[in-house]
Amino acid sequence: MDYLPVFLNIKQRNCLIVGGGGVAARKTRLLLRAGAHIHVVSPAISAEFAGLLQQFPSISHNAETFRPDHLQDRVLVIAATHDQATNQAISIAAREAGIPVNVVDNPDLCTFIMPSILDRSPIIVAVSSGGSSPVLARLLRARLEALIPAAYGRLATYAAQFREQVRQHFPHQENRRFFWEKMLQGPFAEMVFAGKDRAARDYLLETLNSSVDQPPVGEVYLVGAGPGDPDLLTFRAMRLMQQADVVIYDRLVAPAILDMVRQDADRIYAGKERNQHTLPQTSINDLLVKLAQEGKRVLRLKGGDPFIFGRGGEEIETLSQHRIPFQVVPGITAASGVASYAGIPLTHRDYAHSCVFVTGHLKDNTVQLDWSALARPNQTIVVYMGLLGVSELCRQLIAHGLPETTPAAIIQQGTTPNQCVLTGTLATLPTIIRDNPLKPPTLIIVGEVVKLRQKLAWFNSTSKSLENTPTYSKHP
Ligand code: SAH
Repeated sequence: MDYLPVFLNIKQRNCLIVGGGGVAARKTRLLLRAGAHIHVVSPAISAEFAGLLQQFPSISHNAETFRPDHLQDRVLVIAATHDQATNQAISIAAREAGIPVNVVDNPDLCTFIMPSILDRSPIIVAVSSGGSSPVLARLLRARLEALIPAAYGRLATYAAQFREQVRQHFPHQENRRFFWEKMLQGPFAEMVFAGKDRAARDYLLETLNSSVDQPPVGEVYLVGAGPGDPDLLTFRAMRLMQQADVVIYDRLVAPAILDMVRQDADRIYAGKERNQHTLPQTSINDLLVKLAQEGKRVLRLKGGDPFIFGRGGEEIETLSQHRIPFQVVPGITAASGVASYAGIPLTHRDYAHSCVFVTGHLKDNTVQLDWSALARPNQTIVVYMGLLGVSELCRQLIAHGLPETTPAAIIQQGTTPNQCVLTGTLATLPTIIRDNPLKPPTLIIVGEVVKLRQKLAWFNSTSKSLENTPTYSKHP
């Protein structure tokens, strides 16, 4: 055993990350998951890191080059800079101070190395190949749920002897990764498992020598991540999440889902808070094109379904103009996922023969919708982005002919453990919302079908509901 596996408790402890690029961002996320206080030292930071700082204001950032006094009061340090001299200086200073140090991709400068992690807290499985084959460690982690073939350690050791040769053959990192993925999941691995080392070696070298290191061709996967519960992902979404090189995600994508994306994929936060687009739509479109042209497999991960109020159409229009291959993976849209988990069928033979999805987005402080088309009997209306415009929404629907007593519901963070359902009527919903502040995202459902929730609610969330308050019981 070259390294001793240990699990460190770094909760509330000060940890130092030196570097501000994609790798540093990944390490920061990992340490944050373990509850650390993060201090970052880096003169410049990438867009990804900037997003991270915005998302986690508790991270402190010092825009300087590393000095040994940055190590004061730190219990752990990770160096993720491109500068060898800096990495070396960090390693020396940390050793002198007795602080565990990891220099990314440089085992010689490390006093500890980072494993590949399967996180099923409180159970954590950590896998390490001792630096000999990072790709293998990742593939192994993905397979762990089922079975760990006994011969994997041997495969890592065996593959390590070809690492340098493969690296020289494929200057493009993507091609190198693709090659190893093919080897480590294909006949090469099988031959090693079967003890046919000589045949495995011949196969690997033959494949290597017949491969040309052409610039890799990128691709974009526009994937719907559903409304929040990770169990609602499609199989295809899961598969593409495992093979992407970089993921661009929105605020709506639940952290639990983001955790399921391949661990060493770069993560770029595209924002999309109300009134505050961290990356404007045109920059997102351009970024997708740029990354794909660099040969990356780009996962564009969106909440719900990409084609329902998701601007998915605009994004792939730009891709198609640039002739970039893409595929679209539908997701469960909020209307359908949230309604199911709230126990509200969107159609019903007795109450609703049609269902419309609209956006209640405020434009110039008003909601612009075709009110007479909406205010129809036997129709369910699902309103996305409707929280701010709810008073006008209810007023207009009543003014255009829907009874004041029409049942209405608002659901906070549907399908997640924070799901909360408030029900009332068109007349009472604005007051109910005023008195019970909700956290986004929220979805409004209007129509007779809302009544069915009394019988059909099934999802055990910590939802508070107002069914039995005087407000609702006036309109059973
Ligand atoms: N493409 C997404 C919708 C994007 S618009 C989809 O198909 O679901 C964003 C709006 O979706 C939010 O303002 C909110 O109205 C709704 N929404 C998304 N997820 C939700 C959730 N878990 N609970 C309640 N509303 C949700």
